Amino acid sequence: MSSSFQAYQITKDDDNYQCQLTELGDDDLMDGDVTVQVEYSTINYKDGLALTGRSPVVRTFPLIPGLDFAGTVLESSHDRYKAGDRVILNGWGVGEAHSGGYAQKARVNGDWLIPTPEGLSSRQAMAIGTAGYTSMLCVLALEKHGIKPDDGDIIVSGASGGVGSVAVCILNKLGYRVVATTGRTSEADFLTKLGAAEIRDRADFAEKAKPLSRQLWAGAVDVAGGNTLANILSQMDYGGAVAACGLAESMSLPTSVAPFILRGVTLYGIDSVMQPYGNRVNAWNRLLTDLDMDLLEELSFDLDFADLPQAAEDILDGKIRGRAIVKIP
Ligand code: NDP
Repeated sequence: MSSSFQAYQITKDDDNYQCQLTELGDDDLMDGDVTVQVEYSTINYKDGLALTGRSPVVRTFPLIPGLDFAGTVLESSHDRYKAGDRVILNGWGVGEAHSGGYAQKARVNGDWLIPTPEGLSSRQAMAIGTAGYTSMLCVLALEKHGIKPDDGDIIVSGASGGVGSVAVCILNKLGYRVVATTGRTSEADFLTKLGAAEIRDRADFAEKAKPLSRQLWAGAVDVAGGNTLANILSQMDYGGAVAACGLAESMSLPTSVAPFILRGVTLYGIDSVMQPYGNRVNAWNRLLTDLDMDLLEELSFDLDFADLPQAAEDILDGKIRGRAIVKIP
């Protein structure tokens, strides 16, 4: 039975890029074998780009934006899911090339979903969202490299943002000593509460990096790229590893081979979008055990569905702290 539902929709005619809250029908959903009643979503930097059109991340029109959602299956012809199952979606180009989570309903390929881990609510899943899940992928890369808490400090850049704030919490809970870099030193108390042992001004990492500097870090989670990542690389301990997932500062990486060939540093690239199913399930299950849910609640805030357009501007301007939870009405 077809029914109407509320959704944001992005349209583009000639050069006129628009995003509006509107009423749609099932025929407006894209192909897929699982239809989900969306309960919660969130906002990522890329959602900000999609909603505002500041950068061309949306690849098909019309499109319902929203990279992430959590909800309950309404209909399914996919082997893994039946009506009533709780599911999470992030990645696979949803919110960019396939309609996503800023709607009461979503229809997607069931292979893209994962079951919501037992003990995690849909609200908590979206407090985590792509950002938190990407933090976990970064931490898993450092663990796989063999970095132990006794090996030394772990530096996290962009620590007041979504990926950074969750990374600080997870690493602290796992026993690592975390050094957080931020451009918002006024957020020092917030970062200390999350588990940062030391706060560094991100300005210290903004100048062009030397090939090698004093060794300071056993591991790193970097969301910034650019000079920040280049400076972190030149300060890594011998044999250390960096998990790089973002470009909040820049897409470029003005570094040299010195950290790699003289200190055996490893640079892991972290992509959350196309991760295979098993890795996703593993990361989400680890979040359940390695992220303090009370702290997650503290670093999250509720964002009204109607306020998404303003939040899109805010996230692009670096004004969002921690994780936004969007309840779908
Ligand atoms: P947020 O906007 O929430 O946080 C980014 C943070 O980066 C800001 O809060 C700020 O932290 C810091 N920052 C901003 N500008 C600069 C700058 N010029 N130099 C250094 N640091 C800066 O975004 P998310 O945490 O959600 O995402 C972070 C990055 O990771 C983005 O580039 C995003 O696109 C990427 N990402 C990649 C994924 C993947 O699959 N690879 C998945 C998810 C995100 P502070 O104020 O504390 O300095």
